[in-house]
Amino acid sequence: MNIITLIKQVPDTAQLSSTVDGLKLMNEGGARIVNPWDEYCLEAGIQLKEAHGGKVTVLSLGKPDAVEALKRGIAMGADEAVLISDPALEGSDSLATARALVAAIKKIGPFDLILAGRSAIDGNMTATAVQVAALLDVPQLSYIAALKAVDPVAQTITAVRLMENGRETISSKLPAVISVVKEINEPRYPSFMGIRKAAKAAIPTWGLADLGLSADQVGQAGSNVSWPQVSLPPTREGGAEIISGSPAEAAKTLADRLAAEKVI
Ligand SMILES: Cc1cc2nc3c(=O)[nH]c(=O)nc-3n(C[C@H](O)[C@H](O)[C@H](O)COP(=O)(O)OP(=O)(O)OC[C@H]3O[C@@H](n4cnc5c(N)ncnc54)[C@H](O)[C@@H]3O)c2cc1C
Repeated sequence: MNIITLIKQVPDTAQLSSTVDGLKLMNEGGARIVNPWDEYCLEAGIQLKEAHGGKVTVLSLGKPDAVEALKRGIAMGADEAVLISDPALEGSDSLATARALVAAIKKIGPFDLILAGRSAIDGNMTATAVQVAALLDVPQLSYIAALKAVDPVAQTITAVRLMENGRETISSKLPAVISVVKEINEPRYPSFMGIRKAAKAAIPTWGLADLGLSADQVGQAGSNVSWPQVSLPPTREGGAEIISGSPAEAAKTLADRLAAEKVI
């Protein structure tokens, strides 16, 4: 199977604090990690390759340091990686991002499955995979929590969608784009051999010219949605009270207070 996994490098949200400007953090903040949801799509891709043979290519659009996210993908078990990076891409909305990802997917070659995460923890638009599928004119299956059957010969897939009130089994033709939720698997840790392979991997960087795109199709010029401001929620007002007494007295006082507040 030819599998392409979309992974995004995002700010490490553990770095968030109420004193940080959200947009600045996303743009130039400190530590960056692989979008946590994307580790699940990567694991799903690697498991499919292990079951059916073929190749997993990890694809990311980002700044030059997003190559680190791609190296993690190779260390986990992907075969190849491609970075899309070009200053002209800055300020792209999810449609412009999808446009660039699709140009790269077409350049990589024929595929059976494109795998994406449920959402990116910074942008959180949950739109990129849908737009990639629409631009490729292939089906998109969202919120996938399990792959029941994948037949690369018959070119079919049966998967389970996680819904708010239950689960749905759906079948589709391949090629398709699927976005996964964390219930689908437990991502593996990179192996020692994988880390060595990633350290030596030559990862190509494709810019607009390589993708056959013009500057007015991406970046702010090619986007309809803008983000003039990103801010954190206001800090919560609140206080803590230490209940004194022996453990039994403190437990009784706490239970009485919770009952009085109708919490229990
Ligand atoms: C500094 C900054 C400024 C921004 N300004 C704007 C703006 O002005 N207007 C606007 O609309 N958006 C803006 N964005 C958001 C940015 O365009 C989105 O990150 C992008 O559109 C993808 O959407 P998302 O992050 O919400 O991903 P989602 O749609 O939530 O991601 C779903 C899945 O798609 C895949 N995916 C998403 N992005 C990538 C990627 N880059 N590479 C590979 N796979 C990917 C991943 O598998 C991910 O799990 C800005 C982001 C930043 C960091």
